[in-house]
Amino acid sequence: MKILLVEDDNALAQGLADALTTAGVLVQVAEDGRSADFLVSTERYDAVVLDLGLPDGNGTQWLARWREQGIDLPVLILTARERWSDKAAGFSAGADDYVTKPFETAEILFRLRALVRRAHGHSHPVITVGDIALDTHAGQVTRLGMPVSLTAQEFRLLSHLIHAAPRIVSRTELTEHVYDGDQEPDSNVIDVQVSRLRRKLGADAIETVRGQGYRMNTNGAGV
Ligand code: CA
Repeated sequence: MKILLVEDDNALAQGLADALTTAGVLVQVAEDGRSADFLVSTERYDAVVLDLGLPDGNGTQWLARWREQGIDLPVLILTARERWSDKAAGFSAGADDYVTKPFETAEILFRLRALVRRAHGHSHPVITVGDIALDTHAGQVTRLGMPVSLTAQEFRLLSHLIHAAPRIVSRTELTEHVYDGDQEPDSNVIDVQVSRLRRKLGADAIETVRGQGYRMNTNGAGV
């Protein structure tokens, strides 16, 4: 999962970014609406966490603008204010969820995972594809009921394929959702990681679709 965090309070942004990064989430931070506006139109994210009190306008105004442009990714708004009208304005502008400051970092993580799952059309917290199950709430993968140990990057790649299943996912899309903008790998890096995942999950777990990308094998290979 790759998210954009729009927050002008540096300490708060850094604390939340660190905690989400530890949980395996790729986080980019924007300190104002203008930089966020540039990033949402040029980068691919799975969700946005948006502070409402920004130095260059209210977050709801930027959100309304994105929705008008057809940017449909899930948006969770952060507000320090308990005022009912702020939440109403946020939802009216196109927010999907909100958290009031001060918040528990874990709550943001759980809400983001649920929002991203829902955005892919999954209502159940556990997404099962063939022999593989992804517990989106716990952030864990099992194969035939046995836990699979994955690096953060392997988890992001697999999680994206499972959320998208049975759709074919292109290498470009994987690159955009799995890697940092600064360290974009060549397609060979993705091939190497898919090979590692196949060793951990079974050779048939991920199919290569020539010229198009990868997709999860929905049949399952069994033992
Ligand atoms: Ca603020």
